[in-house]
Amino acid sequence: MSKSVQQIVIVGGGTAGWLAACLLAAKLPGHSVTLVEAPDIPTIGVGEGTWPTMRETLATIGIPEAEFLREASAAFKQGSRFDGWADGAATDSYLHPFTAPLPAEMRELAAAWQAGGRAMPFAAAITPQHAICVQNLAPRQRAMPDYAGALNYGYHLDAGKFAALLMRHATGRLGVTRIAAEVTGVVAAQNGDIAALELRDRPPVAGDLFLDCSGQSAILIGGHCGAGWVDRSDVSFNDRALAVQVPVAPGSPLASQTIGTAHEAGWLWDIGLPTRRGIGCVYSARFLSDERAAEILRAYVAAKVPGTDPASLKPRKLAFATGHRDRFWVGNCLAVGLSAGFIEPLEASAIVLIELSLKALAENFPQTRESMAIHAARFNEVFRYRWDRIVEFLKLHYVLSTRTEPYWLAQRAPASIPPRLTECLALWQDQAPSAWDLPRVDEMFPAASQQYVLYGMGFPVPLAGASPATAASPSGTARLGDISAKARALAAALPANRDYFTALAAQDAPRAAQGA
Ligand SMILES: Cc1cc2nc3c(=O)[nH]c(=O)nc-3n(C[C@H](O)[C@H](O)[C@H](O)COP(=O)(O)OP(=O)(O)OC[C@H]3O[C@@H](n4cnc5c(N)ncnc54)[C@H](O)[C@@H]3O)c2cc1C
Repeated sequence: MSKSVQQIVIVGGGTAGWLAACLLAAKLPGHSVTLVEAPDIPTIGVGEGTWPTMRETLATIGIPEAEFLREASAAFKQGSRFDGWADGAATDSYLHPFTAPLPAEMRELAAAWQAGGRAMPFAAAITPQHAICVQNLAPRQRAMPDYAGALNYGYHLDAGKFAALLMRHATGRLGVTRIAAEVTGVVAAQNGDIAALELRDRPPVAGDLFLDCSGQSAILIGGHCGAGWVDRSDVSFNDRALAVQVPVAPGSPLASQTIGTAHEAGWLWDIGLPTRRGIGCVYSARFLSDERAAEILRAYVAAKVPGTDPASLKPRKLAFATGHRDRFWVGNCLAVGLSAGFIEPLEASAIVLIELSLKALAENFPQTRESMAIHAARFNEVFRYRWDRIVEFLKLHYVLSTRTEPYWLAQRAPASIPPRLTECLALWQDQAPSAWDLPRVDEMFPAASQQYVLYGMGFPVPLAGASPATAASPSGTARLGDISAKARALAAALPANRDYFTALAAQDAPRAAQGA
């Protein structure tokens, strides 16, 4: 009888590695989980915006929400706001919130909004979350049960503190073994599998299933396993980022969404944590020098974070290749995190892919080596589909712009637009995005997300005559009124983000004084 898969070995102690260790240890009791991380190879240290999926992840792992918020210096994220993407004018701004109406209702609301002359931003008309974000309010009250909210939300967090929290939780509460050592090679089995990892100054560590969470070095999946690289830079041009952390004044407003501001050859992210803002300039080296990117970053900080001396900022430069593996699971090795691939963090799609990969693995965990090839083939098919849809959705943010800098013109060049997106854009003139375009039940960017971007960028909503499903109706107009009323009621009930975290810190202060 074939040997069961018992020993899971993870390489890498970044967000991917420690999330993997926690989730697999929590969901697969009876298995041994070992994580090997090289003490001298740093983690990437960025990755501060999550999706709402993180709430279920943290609940599954068993970390109370207040502990997570405190230890990871986290705050709430209710979506992403895009400033300056359509035409760069001062009023050019739209929100892609995490809360969306049901698909049929969304089409009706969009039609009513268009028929009413687009009197307010699309997201403001169809979800109360827009008003909550504008007012910097929290998506939940403190008395609510952990991970419950009045509106859908994820988090902004400090990546270094988050990995440290996960490590403490994994080793202290979930029985994960940590080995601080560099992996220097692989002991291959006769069938080509990985039998064990060779470590510097330590004995080898054997396993049944290996997770490559080694970041951009991808030492197992790109090394021993020989998975190829699918370059997506023909569609997605950005390959550099400059990142800074800027302290904020006590009591200053705390934003409820990531802010992505377009610039001449890329965009800037702005992520608010209770104690600081993480700000970064994403750009394409083909269109912008590092020096010009640093100027753009400093100018943004000077304008948006009063009291900061921009000259004192020492940006950290990150270079990244855009693309992904041609196979994520090869033999007995699965790549999770940056080792599997990366594309610019425009919609924070990286950590959620880590979560989805681990969910897929845990819910379809191979009992024996014999079934691994079937699981691997399915996994590779699903995640290749996901990558293709991510590449298209991120491109959608660029192709409707009317900005005229060379970078933005190149972003709209037909040859750089994936054929499937070109087809969808043609159809979306006549009919709103729907499950016909995005048919899987677990689409990462369903029709609602496409509509938030399309109509946020000024694309027309198809009205009567094109498709009965998109005709404006009196009930749609009435529902818009209901949504405005709900926004007012929620705004009256929800605390300001800043107040939520001030109260949380005050509750923690006596514990800290007692050394709890
Ligand atoms: C500019 C930028 C902004 C981003 N923003 C977001 C965001 O807002 N939201 C989001 O979801 N994602 C974002 N990401 C992506 C996110 O940072 C990563 O997906 C996430 O941090 C996971 O990284 P990782 O754990 O795969 O790799 P890393 O953090 O690089 O960790 C790699 C680990 O492997 C170990 N290692 C490497 N080689 C060896 C070896 N030979 N032996 C042993 N150990 C080894 C290292 O020591 C380290 O512990 C961003 C990325 C970039 C570049």
